[in-house]
Amino acid sequence: MTDRGDKSASAAIRAVVQGEVQGVGFRDATVSRAHALGVMGWVRNGEDRTLRVHAEGSERSVEELVAFLHEGPSLAWVSEVAIDKVAVEGHEQFAIRGVSAGVFVVQEHAATAHHFDLRLEVDGVMRSWALPKGPSLDPAVKRLAVEVADHAMAHDAFEGSLEAGRVIVWDRGTYEQGGRVAWPQALTRGHAVFVLHGEKLHGGFALQRTRSGAKAQWLLIKRRDEYAQPGSDIVAECPRSVLSGRALDEILE
Ligand code: MN
Repeated sequence: MTDRGDKSASAAIRAVVQGEVQGVGFRDATVSRAHALGVMGWVRNGEDRTLRVHAEGSERSVEELVAFLHEGPSLAWVSEVAIDKVAVEGHEQFAIRGVSAGVFVVQEHAATAHHFDLRLEVDGVMRSWALPKGPSLDPAVKRLAVEVADHAMAHDAFEGSLEAGRVIVWDRGTYEQGGRVAWPQALTRGHAVFVLHGEKLHGGFALQRTRSGAKAQWLLIKRRDEYAQPGSDIVAECPRSVLSGRALDEILE
């Protein structure tokens, strides 16, 4: 785990590092250095062959991390580091962003009450939420998500008829964990941010718990990003299985 760091971070920067900075162990080295310095934030590879960093902590520890970014690990060659001072965001980890955390699946389920099951791979199991109305790509829409029992990953590709009703694989893919708090603690605390790379669902989402206890209630909300589709209804527009092309009513009992 990370050092606890300075809870009252006083400085925050965004850095863009140019040169030969990808594929040279720069992200891992930055994480190690940030942990040693008690700096919080994240590092990611940019799409433009840059390295991008958000760092926050004491003035001095952030300065030391910036000094490290100018040097980089031994295999890197740094040509330029652009620094912007930004607001402290309250990060409690230093994470690598833009990497897969595992798989996700959304299964449509004709149970007594028709619903969709969103499942995210966390520590080897599929954490699961039942969505009566399914997901939405419209950031203005908040969809109820009732926490249900974890499922085995072996169930991810299941499509067909169960005693509990017919099921299709409505969407699937991989996801990235995001947010200021490390997973699975983000789920324990009731606010989890993630990025989906599915066939139908793309981009950032948030799960926000609104009621704790058994069958805890959450809201699933699309974040405002380039994949948001205001006014859309993805469930109505794309009803078919991504595995078989079948609609739920084409599954035999
Ligand atoms: Mn279900």
